[in-house]
Amino acid sequence: MAEPLGNNSYLVDTALYRPGHAACYLVEDGGELAIIDTGTPHSLPQILDAISAMGATPAQVRYVIPTHVHLDHAGGAGQLMQACPQATLIVHPRGQPHMVDPSKLQAGATAVYGEQAFRRDFGELRAIPEQRTLAAADLQNFALGGRTLQFLHTPGHANHHGCVFDQHSGYLYTGDTFGLGYREFRHERGPLLVATTTPVAFDPDAWFDSLDHMMALKPEACCLTHFGKIDRPERQVGMLRDSIQAHVEIALAEERQSPEGREARLRAAVDELLVSTGCAHGGLAAERVRQIFESDIELNAQGLHVWLTRRAKKRD
Ligand SMILES: [Zn+2]
Repeated sequence: MAEPLGNNSYLVDTALYRPGHAACYLVEDGGELAIIDTGTPHSLPQILDAISAMGATPAQVRYVIPTHVHLDHAGGAGQLMQACPQATLIVHPRGQPHMVDPSKLQAGATAVYGEQAFRRDFGELRAIPEQRTLAAADLQNFALGGRTLQFLHTPGHANHHGCVFDQHSGYLYTGDTFGLGYREFRHERGPLLVATTTPVAFDPDAWFDSLDHMMALKPEACCLTHFGKIDRPERQVGMLRDSIQAHVEIALAEERQSPEGREARLRAAVDELLVSTGCAHGGLAAERVRQIFESDIELNAQGLHVWLTRRAKKRD
């Protein structure tokens, strides 16, 4: 089902792992649709249902815009482009080659998730004909009906990450650059935001800069893939900066130790950080917090490990 967010903008749960884990967004203007993030190949029925619930058809989709090519955001792009015959895929220039030929992406993701989990959760990645893709420059504008969508390069979580700013609504579609803000943690004192440091290109300095650029747009709201719309993002961004910095400190403390046993120590430290942050935010018991962050603890620890390896190589 499509959840209305106002301004002809809708959230669709892409049904990865559990309800409330991953979303994509539909924006409609003047009979044209943009889909921001695509979920996985398994998300296609949910997205098509949402389009028809809006009284529209897939032929009205003008743009499909994955914020980056990680599979919870772009895994279903090939299938979605087949279902939407008029659509152009808009993507960061560094992500575009992987949408045209997803074989490296598939190999990389299989290394991160394991063969069995990859097949179960992501199925099969489908190539997109190059002539249907457009590599978007930083700050490039796209007309959708009467409104303008702007693509903003936002490296940090990934070097090929982009966000989409809807100049009409003021909503900024942030993929993973505004962190994780699961709804289970929303309460009267506000949301909880934590960093996601997924392999293979975590870059904290670039991320802090991207957050500056995003906040300079003065967005009305940020729409997170994980998960949902967060109002008054300027009040929340400090919490995300702290979480990025806390992940950096875990990695730097680890850098001073011998690499033996590093993976397990990183995992334990990230587990401790996310569970204690979740508990301190209030409302949920540690076991529930750990359950919600289960896949993120694993990915964040792996991403910090890859970051440390990259730093070591640079020094050699
Ligand atoms: Zn993600």
